[in-house]
Amino acid sequence: MIGHPVKHSISPIMHNAAFKKLKLNCIYLAFDVEPEDLGSAVNGLRSIKALGFNVTIPYKIDVMRFLDRLDDSAELVGSVNTVLIRNGELIGYNTDLHGIKASLEREDFIGDRAMILGAGGAARAALVSLLDLGFRDILIANRTLKRGEELAAKALGLGASRAKAISLDEARRCAGSCSLIINATPIGMAPDLIDETPLTSEEIPRDAVVLDLVYNPLKTRLLREAEKAGAKAVTGLEVLIHQGARAFKLWTGRSPPIDAMYHAALKALGGGRA
Ligand code: NAP
Repeated sequence: MIGHPVKHSISPIMHNAAFKKLKLNCIYLAFDVEPEDLGSAVNGLRSIKALGFNVTIPYKIDVMRFLDRLDDSAELVGSVNTVLIRNGELIGYNTDLHGIKASLEREDFIGDRAMILGAGGAARAALVSLLDLGFRDILIANRTLKRGEELAAKALGLGASRAKAISLDEARRCAGSCSLIINATPIGMAPDLIDETPLTSEEIPRDAVVLDLVYNPLKTRLLREAEKAGAKAVTGLEVLIHQGARAFKLWTGRSPPIDAMYHAALKALGGGRA
């Protein structure tokens, strides 16, 4: 993995548990790369014939100019979180897209209106996932309205029948009409934002599904509010595991040992089952 910073990532623990489980002679390491060294770090990974690598904040967009080609997932989302190195060629993927879809595909939704909180990279992956899942009416709530409007325009371009950018205050009033709500902001994340929530139980409808991409803590305040409202809460750990599993399959060609990955990640987060 390359990023800046990387020291809180649990991806090394998750992937090394999977390698161990399948007795593969592989290792996953995280490297903190300075912005001016991004190109040389990527080319170094090509030179040493690594199987591939993950890319995290803040390089998910910048890394694209050092790659040979993009898979449809990366093209659609507009960012790369996984790179496969095959025959010296660097191919960029976005496995967050698969992670979000896989975390939600077992759920039943009562309508086709969804709300995304946030308009950054994870929100873009959430948007493409929602459209793939059949949602057509999308609300994008973001602190900076202009970024929300840009994402709403992208939603219309990708086939949404209605897409509107709203403020985080308006989100509190509109949540009642949504059957799926995804938090793609760091609100609720440990340590600084842990007591915060974008929505309370009074604002979340009882029949909604709420996915929080934040996975530290496992059960964020938003997910606790969702459960209090009677809604279904889905943790960001589900997304983390499924995006990691897709990357593992790309790199090794083997079926990912999801349970081993899940338990290792859960232990690293210090939690019981989410
Ligand atoms: P990003 O590109 O930096 O976008 C951050 C978004 O959050 C922006 O919309 C930003 O609004 C908003 N935001 C940031 N701080 C905020 C605050 N204090 N109050 C309100 N809004 C705030 O980051 P990202 O890559 O999309 O990641 C977003 C979250 O998703 C992170 O917590 C990340 O850990 C999580 N994530 C989880 C997974 C997973 O596997 N579970 C995968 C990817 C991401 P502005 O536009 O106004 O700046």
